[in-house]
Amino acid sequence: MNPIDRRTFTTGLCGCMLSGLAGCATTHQTGSAYDLSDTPPGYKPDIHSDEAGLWMQINKTEADMRTAANRIRDKAVNDLVHDIICRLTQDYCADLRPYVLRSPEWNAAMFPTGLTFVYTGFLLQAKNESQVAAVLGHEFGHFRRRHSLARMRDARTKDDIAAALGIGLSMVVAGADFSRLVNLGLNASKLAFSRDHEREADAIGIDLMSKAGYDPYEAGAVWRRVIDIDAASGQDDYHDPYLSTHPTHEEREETLKKLAAEKRKPAVPPPNRLHQVVAPIRASMLADQIDLGTFKRTEKLFDLLIADGLNPGEVLYYKGELYRRRNKEGDDTLALGLYHEAAEAAGAPPEALRQVGLMRWRKGDKDGAREYFRRYLGATPGAFDREIIQNYLKGA
Ligand SMILES: [Zn+2]
Repeated sequence: MNPIDRRTFTTGLCGCMLSGLAGCATTHQTGSAYDLSDTPPGYKPDIHSDEAGLWMQINKTEADMRTAANRIRDKAVNDLVHDIICRLTQDYCADLRPYVLRSPEWNAAMFPTGLTFVYTGFLLQAKNESQVAAVLGHEFGHFRRRHSLARMRDARTKDDIAAALGIGLSMVVAGADFSRLVNLGLNASKLAFSRDHEREADAIGIDLMSKAGYDPYEAGAVWRRVIDIDAASGQDDYHDPYLSTHPTHEEREETLKKLAAEKRKPAVPPPNRLHQVVAPIRASMLADQIDLGTFKRTEKLFDLLIADGLNPGEVLYYKGELYRRRNKEGDDTLALGLYHEAAEAAGAPPEALRQVGLMRWRKGDKDGAREYFRRYLGATPGAFDREIIQNYLKGA
């Protein structure tokens, strides 16, 4: 850590602390105490700087992430995320290295070294490619404006959130219960972004997505979806630690809508390869949502996805699984209804037919069950449980 750097920022920070956070956050425009010039493409920090220390921590995490068990290896999914980033960031494309991680949480982040991660829970929730672009554009806003460095320097005089960030990053790949750990790590890092950093990143993100041919109105729509899911949870099982340091989701949606109105609507339909590309891993993404154990939030997300109309049979089947797994009074009837609905809708896995068969059998409707068992075997010639199902067909 360079002592001169440290003194410089500490001196600068005093004026900031006195004038409050709102004064702080605009320092890059008025002559920054933090030297918050844009990161230029190809940037590497001076090895003697505090910034290099931050990079070292993040590089360690990236080394682990390369071999992380929860890394999604599907080439098409990784290529799509990288392509979206490149469309948005142009000259910075080569500096940014995305990793898609299997985690049901709704999150994505871009760190100062170019390490970027995107959770499958986020890809699942996105209605279209423009929504993915909106969030990645926002993350790039933090990257280009070097918000992490600013918050790290700020944190030294507070609770040393930089240390929390380091711990958080290492947690991302450390544990078996990755969903909870990832969340902890990002809580630590998110807490440190100021409201103004968030607003600045929002403005940069919407500008870049619009220039890249995406629909800028989808930036606000991202937050509408978050708000709707939060509302469905009743807030009772969901503690949002960001709200004191972040604009509210509603405020964000409103601001982004206003910003979108200033942008041109894309002249041609925006690229939308998302659903086709994630289709091969979508079933596992839906199943992971159930494992998250937040019933109401997952139910609402599934309803939104069903309303989107993309392979609704697949989502209906997993919604049935959600009820079956909860197993409260009446849930089996609800699950059976959903499996039925799934079986007749586009994109349903053959398992929907098997579940209808099994549940009808248990309720004593053996003829009805056999009809669905036959359809199941017809749809799955190589079914692993063919013999068992054939026994049902023969049985009395
Ligand atoms: Zn942000």
